[in-house]
Amino acid sequence: MENLDKKLTPLMKQYWDIKSAHKDKILFFRMGDFYELFDQDAITAAPILGIALTARNKNSGDHTAMCGMPHHSIHNYLNKLLALNYKVALCDQIEDPKDAKGLVKRAVTRVLSPGMVYDPDTLESTRSNYIASYDSESVSFLESTTGEAFYIRIQKEEERQHLLSVLGAVEFVLSESQYLIELQSKKDLAGPCFTQHEVQTSLLLKNELMLPESVQRLLSYAISMQGELLRKTLDPFEERVLEKRMELSSQVLQHLEIFETYSGHRQGSVFHAINKTQSAAGARKLKNWMMFPLMELSEILARQNKIQFWMDRVVELKSIRQCMSQMGDIERRLGKISNPNCNARDLLALKDSLCAGLELSKLANLSLDMPKLEKIIFEISKTLRDDAPLSTKNGHLIQKGYSVDLDRLIDLATNSQDLLTQLEMREKEKTQISNLKVRYNQVFGYYIEITKTHLNKIPAHYIRKQTLTNAERFMTEELQSLETQILSAQTKRAEMESFIFENLKTEILNSSAFLLHLSHLWSELDVISALAWLALEKSYVAPEFNQHGAVSLVSSRHPVVEQLTTFVANTIELSPQGCLLLTGPNMAGKSTLMRQVALSVLLAQIGSYIPAKKASLPIFDRIFTRIGASDSLSEGLSTFMVEMKETAYLLNHATPKSLIILDEIGRGTSTFDGMSLAQSILVYLVQTIKAVSLFATHYHELTHLAAQYPQLQNAHMKVGEKTTRGEKEIQFIYTLENGPANKSYGIEVAKLAGMPKAVTHMARKILDQKEKEVGDGVLPLFSFATVDDSDEATDRVSLYATPAPAENQKWKTVIQDLTAVSISETSPMEALNKIYGWQKSLS
Ligand code: ADP
Repeated sequence: MENLDKKLTPLMKQYWDIKSAHKDKILFFRMGDFYELFDQDAITAAPILGIALTARNKNSGDHTAMCGMPHHSIHNYLNKLLALNYKVALCDQIEDPKDAKGLVKRAVTRVLSPGMVYDPDTLESTRSNYIASYDSESVSFLESTTGEAFYIRIQKEEERQHLLSVLGAVEFVLSESQYLIELQSKKDLAGPCFTQHEVQTSLLLKNELMLPESVQRLLSYAISMQGELLRKTLDPFEERVLEKRMELSSQVLQHLEIFETYSGHRQGSVFHAINKTQSAAGARKLKNWMMFPLMELSEILARQNKIQFWMDRVVELKSIRQCMSQMGDIERRLGKISNPNCNARDLLALKDSLCAGLELSKLANLSLDMPKLEKIIFEISKTLRDDAPLSTKNGHLIQKGYSVDLDRLIDLATNSQDLLTQLEMREKEKTQISNLKVRYNQVFGYYIEITKTHLNKIPAHYIRKQTLTNAERFMTEELQSLETQILSAQTKRAEMESFIFENLKTEILNSSAFLLHLSHLWSELDVISALAWLALEKSYVAPEFNQHGAVSLVSSRHPVVEQLTTFVANTIELSPQGCLLLTGPNMAGKSTLMRQVALSVLLAQIGSYIPAKKASLPIFDRIFTRIGASDSLSEGLSTFMVEMKETAYLLNHATPKSLIILDEIGRGTSTFDGMSLAQSILVYLVQTIKAVSLFATHYHELTHLAAQYPQLQNAHMKVGEKTTRGEKEIQFIYTLENGPANKSYGIEVAKLAGMPKAVTHMARKILDQKEKEVGDGVLPLFSFATVDDSDEATDRVSLYATPAPAENQKWKTVIQDLTAVSISETSPMEALNKIYGWQKSLS
């Protein structure tokens, strides 16, 4: 790619010299008011950024690809590249072109990566933009735009993976060996980007060298990217302990659609439905609470009490929320202020946020250092003009009255005409020359012009500059000094304003620890008041917590579904270690019911009220879920593998204090395989794990197990039936009832789904015939009473009963055939033919 063989212009030589040190990045090369990208960088970036790709100078034979954009609008362009995991180097002109002898000096002034962005305003406000690092003992996270920084001591690789996937870092900062390993295991382009960085101890403070290596790596990287100023807006790295937190895996967050729906939308997620926060920092905090629910009763009750406090004061609550909506994003604003591209509007926006915070603190009676906060607000207000421009280099930033010297410069720069008129009047008076004029031109600057008729009145101290036909031009010392003052006033003014601005910025950054503390205080209040508002608006109730482990949710609802449709509330009672075995047709509401139990538990353990009329819950250590992402057959066998992996993980890790949700286990394989697995998993749950669980199944045969295991409670989603024009139709009424479902209703659901009548009629005939054959509507496949768990080492579960030999042989052949079918390789026609064959052999 390097054009060594071509004759390079000095500019392109400078470009390639700089580019050679940043081969892995896209180089934005400043030329005048534009940033230009060249060669492969331009070819890569132009389609992503949606800008035209041109050639540098076709006419003179330079075909180097090129694209560019105005310097003031790079924010969004940069963000697009960073979001796709590219790194970017910004190369600026580091001297004023006016002062340059020959080519303007250029150098890379900033390097940006997905985790170290240019402008926090371009990030999604409610999402944290973490960079992460790990070592054998810890995993660390840093959010450069909000200042959040923490580490967790973790040794097990599995736990580390879990945490990294839940928190979703955008960039991993790694040692060389970690980098190679991660690169090898990376399967697709999505996911975090990897950056190799060796710790530069010279960038770290003494006390930071005592922290885990992963922390040091992050700090060293962040400071090397953004400079020392970043440290000012970073919270000190805190150790977080997860033992006191309920564990939720990224799968559970996905299954319960906590932050996104299955289709990847935020709308429709639980967070979207319950998030009533008014500030971005509040929204991020609520997300964090939802990722790490509490397990300490006292902490949960403390949050509940705070929520109750605001629910009892609705008028004040409204005012607080009103104030909160004016708050802006203090954390990210501070992050931006520590960036080199910070401008006066960032400080003004911070001031507005702080004003809202001050009012809020008074309303909520928060205990904080009000005078200190007022002083910061006052400093910004008295220093900066409300209409300050984006550039900090050309003046017009600072308020009049802030500095006498600056005011004089401003006067000089803006009122020079007045000063010149005054001088002209004085000179006229002194010399008695009525037509004396003070004038200006580009070549001579300021001068006094006197017509030749008055030459005899010219004072001795006038210095002749130029002679014209009718007039003479003069200079005086006073005019000369005024000229110097006027001409340099503009430059001096700009410099002085920049200086004052930088001082103010430093002062603010010196207070950033205090401001971050305030922001945490306010964002917590935002979350608490948002949960109070939610509870009032949606009639949530405060759950009680019990020691014995029973679950009681009276008139419970699903927090998302109830916002979309008229919801039928259900009461769910589960004894300690109880397992609710849920049957009922598809679409009857089984999944919804199970999810609403899990969501109520999650909400309860973040301290929130929950969607029910009355509730008593134990404190759970983890929630496990196995819920199919979709019933799409096209995902075929791989879906089954995922299902089994997740179930295996669940069975290997659940404790008696966990909550387990299993939806339609065994669905992804043949009926017999699936049913055997479903039964053995269910037995393992109630016999071995003994955790509160909800198990939905379409294998009605499993309901017989309740006779053997008292912990197993049969329940079903009731379905109504009506007959219209002789045709039976079902109606979903979403009511939970005790006992197993008495029918499967598969054919009725198929009818509702618009299946051709010929198909449903035939299915009905086949079913009637089968039911006649087997008598009770349950196929005699398994015996459910013979679970042999005497041999614990093998966990052997005997599932098969001993049917009549001849009948058995026919069935066995069909079963063998059936299990041998490769779904992904069988066409619908072949499948129908096979079914036809099996029916024939069995009839
Ligand atoms: P299943 O798991 O039995 O197939 P789902 O739980 O997926 O059924 O429910 C199917 C649809 O029924 C849901 O998308 C929802 O719109 C509606 N639904 C479920 N439960 C209720 C309820 N309690 N009240 C009102 N509508 C419900």
